[in-house]
Amino acid sequence: MTTQAQQTVTYRNYVNGEWVAASTQQLDASINPANKSEIVGYVQKSGKEDLDRAVQAAKSAQIGWRKLSGATRGDYLYKVADILEKRTDEIAETMTREMGKTLPEAKGETARGVAILRYYAGEGMREIGNVIPSTDSEALMFTTRVPLGVVGVITPWNFPVAIPVWKIAPALIYGNTVVFKPAQETAVTAAKVIQCFAEAGVPAGVVNMVMGDGPVIGHGIAAHPGIDGVTFTGSEQVGKSVGQTALARGAKYQLEMGGKNPVIVLADADLDQAVEATIIGGLRSTGQKCTATSRVIVERAVYEPFKEKLLARVNELKIGDGREKETWMGPCASEKQLRTVLHYIEKGVEEGATLLCGGKQPDGEALKNGFYVEPTVFEHVNSGMTIAQEEIFGPVLALMKVDSLEEAIELANDVEYGLSASIFTKNIGHILAFIQDIDAGLVRINAETAGVELQAPFGGMKQSSSHSREQGRAAIEFFTAVKTVFIKP
Ligand code: NAP
Repeated sequence: MTTQAQQTVTYRNYVNGEWVAASTQQLDASINPANKSEIVGYVQKSGKEDLDRAVQAAKSAQIGWRKLSGATRGDYLYKVADILEKRTDEIAETMTREMGKTLPEAKGETARGVAILRYYAGEGMREIGNVIPSTDSEALMFTTRVPLGVVGVITPWNFPVAIPVWKIAPALIYGNTVVFKPAQETAVTAAKVIQCFAEAGVPAGVVNMVMGDGPVIGHGIAAHPGIDGVTFTGSEQVGKSVGQTALARGAKYQLEMGGKNPVIVLADADLDQAVEATIIGGLRSTGQKCTATSRVIVERAVYEPFKEKLLARVNELKIGDGREKETWMGPCASEKQLRTVLHYIEKGVEEGATLLCGGKQPDGEALKNGFYVEPTVFEHVNSGMTIAQEEIFGPVLALMKVDSLEEAIELANDVEYGLSASIFTKNIGHILAFIQDIDAGLVRINAETAGVELQAPFGGMKQSSSHSREQGRAAIEFFTAVKTVFIKP
């Protein structure tokens, strides 16, 4: 190992309340995408044996954890929230170094994690069933809910704090124990989140983290007979294989997958508002959000002024290391992600779309060591093109021109995904038609596609999700099983 390796911290798995090295003795280096020669930390490349231990620990801890009152479990989550809040600056800085989003975005995400923990801590004191009138006048009939048991949590790299927390917190408050596999790309940030659970004194075995490759640990979770429910966020391809594997052994599963989110701009829209929302929705986090805007469908009458304003704003955006104050957009999270984005840009040009700006890695000495790509806008995009159909997960916008609301909605729905969609208009009739007819789980009016509030149900239609919902009260549906109780004197 190099000198840097000796100075760089190695992060371990967390199993049964202890920080342990993987049985394989293998490590991966987590790289800063803004400067590929900087190693953020070493993380474990675990094997099946490590997963088995974690599942065993979660199973043993389940009995004690489910017996605690919701209020007591909630107290633990309040403590985790306080610790995460105190460590916001440090954890946000790690996130920026590990996956490239800007520091204000990373701080915002960590604050979101804190708020999610507090929301679910309170959930421990709320009702979990309903009384249903029985036809037998002597009987009492009601529903109650019980935990699933051990829940497997598989998460992507794009929200390394918020997504793990929005799965782990509801899992725990409803009495489940957890085996968590973070994306290897952001396992250092994940380890710091799990440190907060450890520091808060959450009992041994209640939360376990096993780092490693998706096909080994992720697939291992989906296939493990000791895991009762699997909650996954990531790509459609991997999600479907996780779902099939869990289904084959009769386990409950929940999949949140990709998006190809449209913004519709009608002739009566406030163009400045629509441009700003397109920029924020499409290019924040370097376009690496499942809810990111990728198709911009504009009514002919305002197409040219909208395009001009959009390009003027895109040209102002400063690319750089997310830790620098003036940076608006950081790098892609990894070399693999950069290659994917460049591949799609090439495909767009090959298939006849017109590149209006961006399209390549930026020039400049300061940026040559990172996985940067320019914010990119295409026009003359038709719905049959690859860039209009496949999720790019990068800062690439496709402009499309239409003559009516009906044409816009038809185009917007002409993809396999249905996560988020926005419309910009002042016409209430058009708004109501959009709410009814758009294929999207998140329907946004005069607001960017990428807005998410933690207390509201989150999830998509079509291939974006397995149709259950995360967040808020909706989470109870996945993380518990319903019992219908009938009592006769
Ligand atoms: P990904 O490649 O599907 O990975 C997601 C997770 O699955 C990672 O932990 C990954 O592990 C693991 N994994 C990989 N192969 C696996 C396998 N064969 N079996 C089980 N698990 C496996 O997705 P990503 O590149 O991290 O994230 C980007 C995707 O996430 C995009 O498609 C985006 O739209 C989606 N996303 C969706 C939402 C939503 O709520 N709808 C939110 C955020 C992101 P390793 O990577 O460590 O190998």
